[in-house]
Amino acid sequence: MVNLILFGPPGSGKGTQAKMLVEKYNFFHISTGDMFRYEMKNDTPLGKKAKEYIAAGNLVPDSLTIAMLKKQVVANQDVYGFIFDGFPRTTPQADALDILMNSLGNSVNKLIALDVNDQEIIDRLQGRAKIEGRADDANVETVKNRIEVYKQNTTPVFDYYENFDKSVKVDGIGSLDEVFERICNEL
Ligand code: AMP
Repeated sequence: MVNLILFGPPGSGKGTQAKMLVEKYNFFHISTGDMFRYEMKNDTPLGKKAKEYIAAGNLVPDSLTIAMLKKQVVANQDVYGFIFDGFPRTTPQADALDILMNSLGNSVNKLIALDVNDQEIIDRLQGRAKIEGRADDANVETVKNRIEVYKQNTTPVFDYYENFDKSVKVDGIGSLDEVFERICNEL
């Protein structure tokens, strides 16, 4: 198995690039953001719990997020490898992921971080709000909070995997194909 973390701030293009990687390499894509949106749309108990955190641009608590992720990984063992998109977002999540993968005889092979500046993120998310209608993209204050949460809580995950020589940065500015090529060069 090849297991990849696609990393970067909100709006850096993780979801889009993950889909392109799935087409080329046949990965199994796990987006915790998409999973939460599914739960909220179906008004499940987990969706109800996650809603307020997501609306405010805060992280859903680790316990809920890790349990949801574990279920999805364990249920899909017959795959070429995983692309984790939007997970891990905290170092306890990274710890939990490593323990989980080890328990399944696997590991995270690489973390690829898409490098995009703050102004580009704000512009991209405002554009995406009009297309996808996500409330957490439309509100500029929520977007700013998500960027702040990313800097405070999530960037340490880059360092966590850098300690194992697994983290690389890729320029996230450019056309979809240009960024995709940079990612593929790292695989
Ligand atoms: P995303 O689509 O990845 O930008 O995620 C949308 C929202 O879902 C985030 O702003 C968080 O509130 C929540 N979320 C997604 N993934 C995680 C995670 N790994 N840990 C905590 N919260 C998450």
